[in-house]
Amino acid sequence: MDYRVLLYYLYTPIEDPEAFAKEHLTFCASLDLRGRILVATEGINGTLSGTIEATERYMEQMRQDPRFKDIYFKFDESQGHAFKKLFVRPRKELVSLNLEDDIDPLKTTGEYLSPEAFRTALLDEETVVIDARNDYEYDLGHFRGAIRPEIHSFRELPAWIRENKERLMAKKIVTYCTGGIRCEKFSGWLIREGFEGVGQLHGGITAYGKDPETQGELWDGKMYVFDERISVEINQVDKQVIGKEWFDGSPCERYINCSNPECNRQMLVSEENEARYLGACSVECAGHAKNRYVMAQGMIEEEKQQRLAELEPR
Ligand SMILES: [Zn+2]
Repeated sequence: MDYRVLLYYLYTPIEDPEAFAKEHLTFCASLDLRGRILVATEGINGTLSGTIEATERYMEQMRQDPRFKDIYFKFDESQGHAFKKLFVRPRKELVSLNLEDDIDPLKTTGEYLSPEAFRTALLDEETVVIDARNDYEYDLGHFRGAIRPEIHSFRELPAWIRENKERLMAKKIVTYCTGGIRCEKFSGWLIREGFEGVGQLHGGITAYGKDPETQGELWDGKMYVFDERISVEINQVDKQVIGKEWFDGSPCERYINCSNPECNRQMLVSEENEARYLGACSVECAGHAKNRYVMAQGMIEEEKQQRLAELEPR
């Protein structure tokens, strides 16, 4: 474990995101960091992997810049890089809620809840806890009792809230996401929509899992992450597996992508069923001419056809 994965964001004005991104790319490359950084006039959002020494130097350098001195870096230990490449990209905004009228979290945002205060909110019957992430993230793991909006992307969240406004309005609302960045805008938007007592988990699930008081308590399953690790543990107290195997519904936390390169569906699959279904989500996908699993195994066509014949359609 001589590497680290950093996760951070800060809403802070950056004048020329394009020029900044170019310069920052050179700087990160000089430290052999990998990962993805987004830069916008509203701030910066990054996740990076590198050696402990390189990540230390990166954080030190960032803190010396008055614009970034307040960045709160979260990190995990890691065996080697968690990313294959390095991207630093200028963007119009850091996260998009698809709003006609954007929210500036520096002006309007929900109350920051510490992990402990958030745990109290989880147990409070007068509070609803909303997961501000996507459905596939929720399905691998979430806070016990949290609401799962039926959305495939963050941009669909406002419409979903409006459809469910009546039942949500009766209670206090608390939101959470992976590292906190999505909730900064989302909770601000909730306030603008007229919700009262809106709170957000400060530092996101990541901070909650590392907090010495909460130690991830009341989190079920694993947390989805956007790097090669795919998922990480959060609950150090009373962990339960909630992920369900794609084919048989048994408890499972093993993510793979469908081996049909045109499908790529992300799903939880056991090693046994991965081998059985040739890495695919269905018999149709298993039979695809460019099935990656078949190619990686160096399976000859005859064997592939024989294996396909053994599978009953699903
Ligand atoms: Zn598929």
